[in-house]
Amino acid sequence: MLTLLELLKDGRFHSGQALGGALGVSRSAVWKQLQQLESDLGLSIHKVRGRGYQLAVPLMLLNSVDIREQSKDCPWTVLVFDSIDSTNAEALRSIELGAQAPFLVLAERQMAGRGRRGRKWVSPFAENLYYSLVLRVDGGMRQLEGLSLVVGLAVMQTLRQFGIVGVGLKWPNDVLVGPKKIAGILLELVGDPADVCHIVLGVGINVNMQKTDEVDQQWTSMRLESGLQVDRNQLVARLNMMLKAYLARHQLQGFASIQEEWEQNHLWQGRAVSLVAGVNKIDGIVMGIDQQGALRLKVDGIESVYSGGELSLRLRDDS
Ligand code: ATP
Repeated sequence: MLTLLELLKDGRFHSGQALGGALGVSRSAVWKQLQQLESDLGLSIHKVRGRGYQLAVPLMLLNSVDIREQSKDCPWTVLVFDSIDSTNAEALRSIELGAQAPFLVLAERQMAGRGRRGRKWVSPFAENLYYSLVLRVDGGMRQLEGLSLVVGLAVMQTLRQFGIVGVGLKWPNDVLVGPKKIAGILLELVGDPADVCHIVLGVGINVNMQKTDEVDQQWTSMRLESGLQVDRNQLVARLNMMLKAYLARHQLQGFASIQEEWEQNHLWQGRAVSLVAGVNKIDGIVMGIDQQGALRLKVDGIESVYSGGELSLRLRDDS
């Protein structure tokens, strides 16, 4: 089906005969595939008698050669899927099968894209970025300290390179423009964190998405912020390079060297928040983070430190 999409992606008209010829199938088989593209991928296709078929909006698909060409310093294997449950899930399966890290898993869409604690990440076809970079870590716990915060910073800086104004961070791992979420980060680990392990750095960025009814909180996308269509291959390449630079700094100098920069970009610094862990809630003022990336919160005048994957921050109404 993707071959048909490759033929149509230029946004020009193609006759049924020409498409059938190129694919080696009958015109009625082309027709069926076109209907499938519409129903499965939510694409809109113009059908004009005498002219043929045309995508309503031209598509720029992910291309591993293009990505490697544009990020030569990151010679990672790049795997691109048309459709997958989740790029993180695929990355975890590949690790189990013995794939050599580093490698990168990308998909045009995710059928079961995930956020933290089993929440869903909305992942329509060919609009956004669903990106999972797998690294082998053998430096023990220190190499993992604050890692999801480092990834957030790299994502934020990449978005700034594309001219997104007002982008910042929310502890522990959200990237926001004002109150609206533009990217999410999900790190997953396999192996022994104290010895040798693999870590999957999962990143979802809203790129060219302009509408969806599925996201149940405020969101935005690069396109909505800048008004410009973004080349996702270029975005992957720049994110690769940015992540590589931040990860190298993290590896050499530890999270302490990144703490201050992270705090400077924390949108909720000094705000009155509730820290939520399941049914428990603690109210406090955000002081910042410590040298391991844990949250520093002033609660009843006393500063306490909180960390763990199950914690979420919410702004208090009186903030
Ligand atoms: P946190 O618990 O860190 O405060 P969160 O509630 O935003 O953050 P995450 O696990 O980071 O949770 O992300 C999942 C949530 O993000 C979903 O429950 C949904 O509200 C929202 N979401 C899902 N898809 C998208 C998307 N494409 N863009 C923006 N937000 C999304």
